[in-house]
Amino acid sequence: MILPLAVGRSEVCLKSGPGPGARDEIFDKLGDVTTPLPSAGPEPGPGGHLLVVEDEQKVAGALREGLEGEGYSVVVEGTGEGAFSRLIAHYDTFDAVLLDLTLPGRDGLEVLSELRRRGIETPVIVLTARDSLGDRVVGLDAGADDYLIKPFAFAELLARLRAVGRRGRATDAGGLSLDTLELDRTTRQATRAGQPIELTAKEFDLLHYLAAHPRQVVSRDTLARDVWRETARSTTLDNVIDVHISRLRRKIDLEGQTKLIQTVRGVGFVLREGGE
Ligand code: CA
Repeated sequence: MILPLAVGRSEVCLKSGPGPGARDEIFDKLGDVTTPLPSAGPEPGPGGHLLVVEDEQKVAGALREGLEGEGYSVVVEGTGEGAFSRLIAHYDTFDAVLLDLTLPGRDGLEVLSELRRRGIETPVIVLTARDSLGDRVVGLDAGADDYLIKPFAFAELLARLRAVGRRGRATDAGGLSLDTLELDRTTRQATRAGQPIELTAKEFDLLHYLAAHPRQVVSRDTLARDVWRETARSTTLDNVIDVHISRLRRKIDLEGQTKLIQTVRGVGFVLREGGE
C-alpha cells in the first residue's frame, strides 16, 4: 500500500521535552502499542493533538511524519483495543482521530460505535481502503465525521482535518454561548437567560451545530450532511430541517430576548446576535 504523502522531511520533529508524554513517544516510535497505562501523549502541537489508529507501520510512520511537519502532535496506536483504551482515558485531549478500519482484533467500526455509544464525540476521520458505498454508509452511521479512501492526497487529509477541527474546537470547551443562550455539550442542556430549555436530541444537535458556527450562514445541505448525516438532500429532509428550525425559534427566541436564529433567504440559517 502506497500513500502518496507529499512529505519531503526526513526528520521527525517531536514537540515535547522531557515530560509525561516522552515515554509514549518512545513506545510509539518503537511501534509498541501494548503500553499498559495509556497516557494522553505529547503536548498538543499548534495544529492540534491527533490519534492515528493504523496497524501498517509504514503508513502510520508516513502519517506521523507528515502531520508533525504540519504542526500536529501525533500519537499512533496499532490496534483497536489500544485506541479504545487510550480514547476512553483521554478523549478530551485529542482534537481528532484518524481511524483505519481494518485492524487486528477489534476493528475500527466496532471501536467507533462503542465510543459513540459512550458519548465520546471526538471527531473521527475514517481512513480505509474499503471503498464501497455500503462501507462508507456504515462508517458514517457508526459516527464517523468524515471518510477518506486510501490512497488519498495528503493535502486532502489536511483539509478534512481543518474542517473537523473547526467543528471540534468550538465544542471542546464543553460549553458554547451566544448572547444569553448557553449550551453544555456534556449535559446536553440549553439555557436562555438562565432559563432551561427543553429540547429534543435532534433540536439540541441542530442548535449546537449552529452555535458552533456562530455568525456563519449554514446551508440546508450542510445541515443535512452534518446534523442529519444524510448524504443526499431531499424535499422531505428540507421540510424536516425547516420544522426543527421553527421549533427551535419558538423555544429559544423568547419574548424580550434578542432573536438569534435568522433565515438567510435562499441560502440557509445563521445564529447571530442582533437580529430583528
Ligand atoms: Ca489496516
